[in-house]
Amino acid sequence: MNTDSRSSCPFEDLAAYIDGELSPDRELEVELHFASCTDCYTELNDQKAFLRTLDQTLKDGEFELPADFAKVVVANAESSVAGLRRPHERYNAVFICAGLSLFVLFALGTQAGVLVDQVGAVGSFFGHLFNSFFIGLAIIVRNIASQFAFGVSAIIFLSAAFAVFSLYVSRKVLRTPGL
Ligand SMILES: [Zn+2]
Repeated sequence: MNTDSRSSCPFEDLAAYIDGELSPDRELEVELHFASCTDCYTELNDQKAFLRTLDQTLKDGEFELPADFAKVVVANAESSVAGLRRPHERYNAVFICAGLSLFVLFALGTQAGVLVDQVGAVGSFFGHLFNSFFIGLAIIVRNIASQFAFGVSAIIFLSAAFAVFSLYVSRKVLRTPGL
């Protein structure tokens, strides 16, 4: 429930437990903890359910990559980078960046106000960070969109990318001393 009780939970061992990578002693300890902790029990079930879904999806062959996948991605990335130099493409990139920035701000919720203030203060550093990230993301999104019908794989990828990026930004920002 509160952060104190959660901090003693073996969350870092959860994935290793599911993968069967823990030593027998540690495995027993962790199992005993799961039996008495609702937080961990719920988390364990969530992760197992997620893995089952992922497994099923892979079995259904929805994620099968073409044999020359790497080659095609590299070729597309090269032409995408060249494409971004054209004014029209730049406009698209800026437009996508603006949209995604808004999305990230909403995803950060109550931290958004803090983020905006801090981004203003940290200025060009964050400007460059956002710029590089979103141009990279735009290229990847274009590749995914052209490789697959813009479906489940893209949504999963974007969710993961936003989760990681939001976490990264919020940690950076929260570590930056206030004005
Ligand atoms: Zn626990």
